[in-house]
Amino acid sequence: MKTNAELIDLARSALRDLGVDTDAPTGHLIARSPLTGEDLFPVPATPSMRDAITKADAAFDEWRNVPAPVRGALVKRLGELLGEHKQTLATLVTIEVGKITSEALGEVQEMIDICDFAVGLSRQLYGKTMPSERPGHRLQEVWHPLGVVGVISAFNFPVAVWSWNTAVALACGDTVVWKPSELTPLCALGCAALLERAARELGAPEGIHQLVLGGRDAGAALVDDPRVALVSATGSTRMGREVGPRVAARFGRSLLELGGNNATIVTPSADMSVAINSIVFAAAGTAGQRCTSNRRLIVHRYLADDVVSKLAAAFDRLPIGDPFEQGTLVGPLVSEASYEAMQAALKAASEAGGEVICGGERVDVGAGGHWARPALVRVPEQSGVVLEETFAPILYVLSYDDLDEAIAMHNGVVQGLSAGIFTNDHAEAERFLAEADTGIANVNVGTSGAEIGGAFGGEKATGGGRESGSDAWRSYMRRATNTINYSGSVALAQGVDFSV
Ligand code: NAD
Repeated sequence: MKTNAELIDLARSALRDLGVDTDAPTGHLIARSPLTGEDLFPVPATPSMRDAITKADAAFDEWRNVPAPVRGALVKRLGELLGEHKQTLATLVTIEVGKITSEALGEVQEMIDICDFAVGLSRQLYGKTMPSERPGHRLQEVWHPLGVVGVISAFNFPVAVWSWNTAVALACGDTVVWKPSELTPLCALGCAALLERAARELGAPEGIHQLVLGGRDAGAALVDDPRVALVSATGSTRMGREVGPRVAARFGRSLLELGGNNATIVTPSADMSVAINSIVFAAAGTAGQRCTSNRRLIVHRYLADDVVSKLAAAFDRLPIGDPFEQGTLVGPLVSEASYEAMQAALKAASEAGGEVICGGERVDVGAGGHWARPALVRVPEQSGVVLEETFAPILYVLSYDDLDEAIAMHNGVVQGLSAGIFTNDHAEAERFLAEADTGIANVNVGTSGAEIGGAFGGEKATGGGRESGSDAWRSYMRRATNTINYSGSVALAQGVDFSV
């Protein structure tokens, strides 16, 4: 395990490699690492939120008029730079979040993928032409750049969520102000430096991307500024409850990507080895700190004992430790508060009649930090703490007798992000896909690990937003419906006669 001094050296050299001036005057934020639980160093200061929005707003006037495929060329260059610096950026993700190397590299790959997608998108911002009911008229819808997009991101995807928003927003002709998590300033500085370099090389207007480091106050200043056309906020449902109404109060647009309480159903026809492997990754991967982490398992009563014993054996075998080490599958929790929240949830589940089958205990890996073994908890019913998102590796196991009951249980929480069913029964799979009330629903695939091609997001208390692939780009543009009259005479819609 690396010492704090070694992490400091590694982080500084990664920042220099990405083009960040590590000798710049520092601000109030101090970078830290969950690997040691200690502070690393104060990070360079960034502009005030007000100044950043002013610059992004000014840059929008120029950027919106740059042809979309030329905007796409900037995103293409960003994707190339991300490819060249994949390992370095992944190192910062591991230092600040504790992700194992393979997942940190996967997160950067996701950035490269969305850049590819957005480059293609820059030539496909299609509107529609529809038949007019009037002779000599043409009716069309055209998509225009929206304005300044404010991006607020969570700690657990410190680079990918920024790229989902920024690559698409830039291709759409918007400028971006980014307020990352206060827990991941180094990742943010690295990303911003690469984009700045790409923008310089391609002669993009100055100010199209602004980074503001800070906590909730900085986020609130972004949320309340009427010059910010869209606030794309990723984080807890608590945060979304504050942000959504404030943006709505000024008639701004928001795109909310909030907490999940994701469930998987295991049916009698399931292929057990596919199910067990997928569930272990979804529940314990990223130490249970994904919005899409599998938190509830709804197993047919006939299979429940067998599934529980297979999962317990797999949880017990999970290599926990240094995320830089090849073979480690579970890294640390992000903070001591996360560890305490995990303990509180396990205690509440036990008090409500649940049985902790395995895990939950602190793991001593010979370093500081906050390490816990993923926990498997059998609960008698879906109530209390099972209804909440505890951002830690706890998998609650429930039993069902028929599929109606399983789907009702699945839908019986306020969150609606991601879902899975393991079945080889076609009718069961189709019923589940039709009735699961989440934004993402999978068959024989776990709840976590989405690809960028589809729109990503969830329903209900997950916020209703969609970002990343498919037609999520529409949230970053405004649509105008145009009627063009080339008939030389006046014809009113619906046959209205108003001749003067
Ligand atoms: P968090 O809500 O504590 O913070 C997220 C971001 O919001 C941070 O940048 C924070 O500074 C900012 N923020 C907090 N309160 C704010 C306010 N009142 N006004 C403006 N900004 C504010 O979340 P976290 O602990 O960083 O991340 C974990 C949470 O994020 C989990 O609930 C997880 O499910 C969720 N998440 C959701 C998605 C998704 O796509 N649905 C993706 C990743 C994480």
